[in-house]
Amino acid sequence: MKAEARLGRVYLVGAGPGDPELLTLKAVRALGEADVVLHDDLIDRRVLAYVRPDARIVAVGKRGGCRSTPQAFIARLIVREARAGHVVVRLKGGDPLVFGRGGEELDAARAAGIECAIVSGVTAAIAAAASAAIPLTHRAHASGVIFVTGHEAQGRACVDWAALVATGMTLAIYMGVGRGAAIRDALLAGGLAPSTCVAIVERASASDERVTHSTVDLLARTLCERAVASPAVLIVGDVAARNSAAEALLRSAQTRS
Ligand code: SAH
Repeated sequence: MKAEARLGRVYLVGAGPGDPELLTLKAVRALGEADVVLHDDLIDRRVLAYVRPDARIVAVGKRGGCRSTPQAFIARLIVREARAGHVVVRLKGGDPLVFGRGGEELDAARAAGIECAIVSGVTAAIAAAASAAIPLTHRAHASGVIFVTGHEAQGRACVDWAALVATGMTLAIYMGVGRGAAIRDALLAGGLAPSTCVAIVERASASDERVTHSTVDLLARTLCERAVASPAVLIVGDVAARNSAAEALLRSAQTRS
């Protein structure tokens, strides 16, 4: 019992998509409690302002201190720090349980008998929808939204794209930059209309965010021509047409004036 009482605690915290104002109050409180913060690259460094000055801050992301910190190493680090009696905040971009491998870190902490609390963050697709003013669901257009990785559009095809297309739901595709051709092919092979709109949202919520409109058939070309860079979310579906139409109208009005 005594040994357990000396164990620290782990908070798996979502830092949100970029804008520090999207950090939750709960995340701010956890950051203020932390003895050590292990953070990803994708987080905006301004959120670290809430960390106590005497706390340690360690970058463990792929573009952080190491080229690619192996996931197993991060999990071991979390456990080691908590076993040393520290309050550990594992700070991840967006939401910790959406494409963040947060599940594995949670399992590692639990397997070591360490208390682990999860603090939700605003996930990229939600921020991207706000940036592009696109309702991810809409009574007339989409009865749901699917968060899916674009990573598996080729090669290890775990995603059944035809099944996703058949739902008629909005697709919010993460990690799709660089896979435009494979995603286009998978969606078209799945029966999606080539003219279906796609909104490409880069760096959603950041001051330099950019929204680009395209269609499924032109997706690869647009990604290339507009030099779209990661991180970006692709929002595919009729809901994406609403604003691209509005934007086109605005553009033509501006051209006329
Ligand atoms: N846990 C994160 C996702 C991590 S996976 C979340 O909940 O948002 C990394 C992918 O997230 C990127 O390839 C990109 O598709 C997306 N992403 C993260 N931050 C983003 C941002 N600010 N704008 C657009 N896409 C973002």
